[in-house]
Amino acid sequence: MTGIVVLGSTNMDLVAYVARAPKHGETVTGREFRTVPGGKGANQAVAAARAGGDVAMIGAVGTDEFGVLLRHTLTSSGVDTDLLHTAEGPSGTAHIVVDDEGGNAIVVIPGANGTVTALGPGEETVITSAGSLLLQLELPLSAVLDGARAARRHGVRTILTPAPVQPLPPELLACTDLLVPNEHEAAALAGVADPYGAAEVLLRRVPEVVITLGAAGCLYAARGAVPVTVPAPKVTAVDTTAAGDTFVGALAVAIGEGRPMAEAARWASAAAALCVRRHGASTSMPYRSEIDEAAS
Ligand code: AMP
Repeated sequence: MTGIVVLGSTNMDLVAYVARAPKHGETVTGREFRTVPGGKGANQAVAAARAGGDVAMIGAVGTDEFGVLLRHTLTSSGVDTDLLHTAEGPSGTAHIVVDDEGGNAIVVIPGANGTVTALGPGEETVITSAGSLLLQLELPLSAVLDGARAARRHGVRTILTPAPVQPLPPELLACTDLLVPNEHEAAALAGVADPYGAAEVLLRRVPEVVITLGAAGCLYAARGAVPVTVPAPKVTAVDTTAAGDTFVGALAVAIGEGRPMAEAARWASAAAALCVRRHGASTSMPYRSEIDEAAS
């Protein structure tokens, strides 16, 4: 049995580091370029595996060199890639601009991710024997829905990161146990800017919500309970790419271990704070021993 299954994207992140991001129509000269394996699904898979989870990834890479590297990144962190298909054509790419404040702006081109439109029996079997299914919105919605339905049918916990943010089909929300948006996604989905207000609206559709708030930590809210704010450790952020994915991966591991949500969120915050102190996406994710040390 696999504890955590991630149904999601793999992308090669092509990262430009600049003092400040260009405005529309403007060209700026950057300082440095890096090629970093990423994709929200793969990031969450690597984060969960490094945090100590038993993780399998469902998705697709392309037949280009990026595909080989993306698969290797997952396997070298201990992620099972038996159900990560190789689809004819390019892998997904994410074109990222990171500024001196550690903020980022991203264009994603789906590539092979776009071929994952439905799940087969093999994928469904792996999902139904898992403890948690992690979902994001970088794969075609039809596949995300397939996975969510399979999980719901078999009582598997579903944790949805609603990114890139878009209107969510009611059926997907009905199959979601825990929604983990960032502040902007929560505001867009709820139509309310204040995180407490947004959480209240979102709780009408899902039983539990964790809204991540960047350096301010996160807000945990569940139906019938008083919302709890969990502060983030104070660190110097150099690159917030994949902070949210690190948070979700670690959170899923802690939840799978049966820890109470507030404690799980505190541990996930320690993991995400370690991630923002380093450059990169999956390369900047901490291992369990580092998280335990930082959280103690
Ligand atoms: P975000 O997607 O920006 O809301 O960030 C996700 C999570 O990463 C937050 O809930 C924090 O736990 C962590 N995080 C992001 N930025 C920072 C920061 N500057 N300092 C510490 N933790 C951070």
